[in-house]
Amino acid sequence: MQDDTGQDATIAAAPAFAEAFERLRRLSRSEPAPVIDVRRRLLRAVRSCVAEGQSEFAAAISQDFGQRSRRETLMCEVVPSLQSTDDALRHLAAWMRPKRKWTAPHFWPAGNRVLFQPKGVVLIIAPWNYPLQLTIAPLVAALAAGNRVVVKPSELTPRFADVLKRRLEAALGTDYVHVVTGGAEVAAALTALPFDHILFTGSTAVGRKVMQAAARNLTPVTLELGGKSPAIVYEDFDFATASRRIARGKLMNAGQTCIAPDYVLAPAGRVQEFIDHYRAEAARLYPRLAANPDYTSIASLRHYTRLAELVVEARKSGAEITVIDPAGEFPKGEIGSADSRKMAPVVVSGAGDATRIMQEEIFGPLLAVVPYTTLDAAIRYVNDRPRPLALYYFDADKTRVKDLLARTVSGGASVNDTIFHVAQESIPFGGIGPSGMGAYHGRAGFETFSHAKGVFHQSRFAGTELLNPPYGRVFDKAIAALTWWLGGK
Ligand code: NAD
Repeated sequence: MQDDTGQDATIAAAPAFAEAFERLRRLSRSEPAPVIDVRRRLLRAVRSCVAEGQSEFAAAISQDFGQRSRRETLMCEVVPSLQSTDDALRHLAAWMRPKRKWTAPHFWPAGNRVLFQPKGVVLIIAPWNYPLQLTIAPLVAALAAGNRVVVKPSELTPRFADVLKRRLEAALGTDYVHVVTGGAEVAAALTALPFDHILFTGSTAVGRKVMQAAARNLTPVTLELGGKSPAIVYEDFDFATASRRIARGKLMNAGQTCIAPDYVLAPAGRVQEFIDHYRAEAARLYPRLAANPDYTSIASLRHYTRLAELVVEARKSGAEITVIDPAGEFPKGEIGSADSRKMAPVVVSGAGDATRIMQEEIFGPLLAVVPYTTLDAAIRYVNDRPRPLALYYFDADKTRVKDLLARTVSGGASVNDTIFHVAQESIPFGGIGPSGMGAYHGRAGFETFSHAKGVFHQSRFAGTELLNPPYGRVFDKAIAALTWWLGGK
């Protein structure tokens, strides 16, 4: 059954979360702007939930993955979650303060302000790859902005989702946050509800569906999507340093990172030199793979098989495949073990443009290498493709760096390193075009989940009354003076 807006069947099929949504909505409409003390209490509760639950979260995520490095969970999930909570607590008063704005002289002595109001009830949908950080960071922004929140973790991390639900709802109660577990069909049904905002993190394909569903309710969306993030290495930058930093960004979480470098543009004629450095640096970072608790598994057999197929197809297209298995743990000719879902770092160079590895987001420990002749050609290569989520440029020359940043459009960028721009609370994080829309982190997150309401405050001595009808001589003089003044004198 569909109503006249073309939705509904999904809501009827899932009354439990629809009821939770309605409850939060009623609460939000009766208390639209929780005061700062309430927001602080909620943020502190989030902080305790993460700090006290860190071991349980790490263990659950590791079980969900097959094996996820506990240290990487602490570094890439627990620390950033605590950092974003801390940052919000520190800046909350300043963020909430109304902003005075310029008022044109012909309205004086009236004044303008911008008030930041909670949007209401918001939905956060998270992926599986950093399940804790990608629920907590948006949750912190939404709570700081004074919203009620429905959180939907990924069905691919079910143990984590159960722990999150139990711990978050115990720490915060259910008047502000409700965690919904379940599959993609539950997530889809949630997006049909008239939320006041949706922040979705996941693939570009699903992001498109989320935006379509949200459009029926005119619900605004922030889409944190994926894509192929390039790393460009300038010819005179130290290859050892560049390849170490690229390998670290690539191999963390076994490449299952939205902003992992996807492919490297290396100077033509020196591609082999780059690959040799990359192989050495990757082996130094991960001397063992199968028996290394800090080298993460591919999260599911489906993802493992997809990655293995990318390599097979690239090889068929004539690409050169370099498997980096420093301790020789996998059988010769294999890139990993489907049983443990551990996959070696692999470099693929010379793959045809039409191959899947050159078309799809890789999202695993495979690195494509593409030669470039001139920097202009490298920039053209990037600009001819969908706008990436991140771009990495390695170059010591500040003028060239500035020029390259101006001539390429990406969600974010790190210069002379990879990944780290995501860890900065003081700069917005988000994509552009197919890699996403909107941003969060720090103040950007607070603003994403706030309605910036422009308010005009009239004065007791309202000069604008000179312009009231019936229009006469005073009006004509005032308007002539105004047009003279605004028209460039
Ligand atoms: P996905 O798009 O398959 O799933 C993400 C979430 O969407 C899951 O919780 C799922 O339940 C939900 N979902 C599935 N179908 C839905 C529908 N029809 N409507 C609404 N929600 C639906 O993504 P994934 O495989 O979990 O994550 C990997 C992708 O996420 C990669 O593309 C990666 O680049 C991207 N990603 C982006 C960021 C970022 O910050 N930009 C961070 C991490 C991952």
